[in-house]
Amino acid sequence: MDGRYEPVESPDETTVFPYHDLTPPTTADVVRARRVVRQHLPTTPLVRCETLSAELDAEVYLKREDTLPTGAFKVRGGVNLVASLDSEFRERGLITASSGNHGQSIAWAGREFGVPVTIGVPAEANSGKVAAMERLGAEVIQHGPDYDAAREHIEELAIERGARYVHSGNEPKLLAGVGTAGLEIVDELPDVDRVFCPVGGGTSAVGYALTVGELLEADVVGVQSEAAPAMYRAWTEDTLEAHDRMETTAEGVATRVPFALTMGILRDGLADFRLVSEADIRDGVARMFCDERLLIEGACATAVAAALRAGDEIAGETVVIPVSGRNIDREKLARMLEESDYPA
Ligand SMILES: *Cc1c(COP(=O)(O)O)cnc(C)c1O
Repeated sequence: MDGRYEPVESPDETTVFPYHDLTPPTTADVVRARRVVRQHLPTTPLVRCETLSAELDAEVYLKREDTLPTGAFKVRGGVNLVASLDSEFRERGLITASSGNHGQSIAWAGREFGVPVTIGVPAEANSGKVAAMERLGAEVIQHGPDYDAAREHIEELAIERGARYVHSGNEPKLLAGVGTAGLEIVDELPDVDRVFCPVGGGTSAVGYALTVGELLEADVVGVQSEAAPAMYRAWTEDTLEAHDRMETTAEGVATRVPFALTMGILRDGLADFRLVSEADIRDGVARMFCDERLLIEGACATAVAAALRAGDEIAGETVVIPVSGRNIDREKLARMLEESDYPA
């Protein structure tokens, strides 16, 4: 091997390989991705939410990404990445670390394009999630006490096998694919004023910034939990340092290390970045279940909570909240409903 499979110096505290092109994707790349994504995935509904619209005296729409296969938006990025994979990787396969929606996205896309997929998860990973990835045909490797241990193991395995390591944010094709959700909004609701977007690695927020942000001048507002503010801190303090506090129950937005590629775009791409509390997240999950009979992940509830906190500030506006994912496990849902004060 000529070093192509050895990690290179990274602009952030994550691992990148020489095949990781860190050129920021553009709106044009999202438009190109759309042609690919629409051949494999349905367009998702954009539905006016009566209860939130009444509560906020605004036009509030839900972008129903939970209706995609795998139940989360990330599969858009997986499809675009795998569709454009170098032929050398089609046989060697893809390898990534995630016990959540990123893993399912890559597993789904790998199956769609006949590319082998290996996913690293912590030893104690949720058995339902492991089963879901195996059902999609992925090899699941359980290793180590936590996500970082699993990831380090997977990075070594990538080198050994010459497999394509899929980063969860520093991947232009992934970002362009995720952005197709925003293009669907551009078509259907060109008068949107604001999107509240949960931020984990920042791929989803990048997607909306490149579409509704660039094309419609809508304000894209990023949201994280105050119990895990790594990307918030990166944005407000202009740093890519890892953050030690990551205590949120919402695993979709539980980030420790900010990513260079997404943060580079979000610096100008976000109009604002806000934090919500863990109690707000709980109430958001409970509210959407009680009022809308929708199952949303805690990550998605950050955006619902940020809209509710904005209150009068957004009265009269047209607002979109992506229902980013529905893969909340049963115990967590039960606990959130039990502990929530909603309806008060
Ligand atoms: C990954 C994820 C997020 C956060 O998206 P990023 O692109 O990582 O910022 C939000 N909600 C759900 C359900 C997710 O799976």
